[in-house]
Amino acid sequence: MRAAWAAVVGRPVSHSLSPLIYRAFSRETGRPVRHYALTLGPEGLEKALVSARRRPWTGWNVTLPLKVDILRHLDSVDEAAREIGAVNAVRFHEGRCLGYNTDLEGFLAPLDRMGFAPGVRRAAVLGAGGAARAVCAALRRRGVGALWVLGRTPEKAGALAGDFKGRWASLADREALEALAYADLVVNATSAGLDGKSCPLPEGFRLKPNALAYELVYRPRDTPFLKAARGAGARTLGGLGMLVAQAAASWRIWFGEALAEAVVEKVEAGLDKENL
Ligand code: NAP
Repeated sequence: MRAAWAAVVGRPVSHSLSPLIYRAFSRETGRPVRHYALTLGPEGLEKALVSARRRPWTGWNVTLPLKVDILRHLDSVDEAAREIGAVNAVRFHEGRCLGYNTDLEGFLAPLDRMGFAPGVRRAAVLGAGGAARAVCAALRRRGVGALWVLGRTPEKAGALAGDFKGRWASLADREALEALAYADLVVNATSAGLDGKSCPLPEGFRLKPNALAYELVYRPRDTPFLKAARGAGARTLGGLGMLVAQAAASWRIWFGEALAEAVVEKVEAGLDKENL
């Protein structure tokens, strides 16, 4: 079998774990795949896609800053990507470029694995960027009862909450403390924590004893948000499971073949041990 071509495209991509993940999927399944990291900015996107249509690419993972810009260059876009307003996976098929968003599925997979059903519960989502949008869409699909968006920039938090029929508060407001104190699920969808020092949780916050605190940042593995949530008595979940699950969803889209759960878990465990 000839090796399929795949790549993560964006800027920067040198830190991306995608090549490692797809090489591991390839090793586990025996399907030959070459996965590259290609530095690409918005100014080169259109030309790159014209050229990619003529080459034997199977798929791309799309990362910052291209996730929104790429929408207008694609031949079709799936429902999740339309709802979220961003594409993170492309499939090349018979000269066409098809766009998808696998963050929604990736976010839910670890929750499903641990049997945590967000339906009829209260959730608080910290942040109002692209990842927070995918989280809100996922939670709405699962019928979450009350959805709060807690943001640093009120206009962004308000707009996101409005799109998903949620309520919002500034992270500096007393209402944010109340939303956190009653939430069954608290998701950190901010990029605070990437530096290993910043924590988006407001001073004096409290969490429900049985709440689940879900961090989307996966490097470092133990972020200030996770440490603070643990200190407040909550259960915690890191972002690596989502990263591998959204990659597995892209694999299924590219090759029309779902990976076995055991493969996904093995790849996640391998990354956890070796690279973070
Ligand atoms: P983004 O669009 O740039 O949004 C970042 C958000 O974080 C913004 O709402 C920003 O606030 C907020 N923020 C940044 N620093 C903050 C701080 N110190 N306190 C409070 N809020 C702060 O980024 P994104 O694409 O949504 O990604 C967010 C994070 O999720 C990233 O760290 C990314 O690595 C992670 N992620 C993980 C996965 C995974 O598979 N595990 C998938 C997607 C994303 P403003 O609204 O004020 O700008």
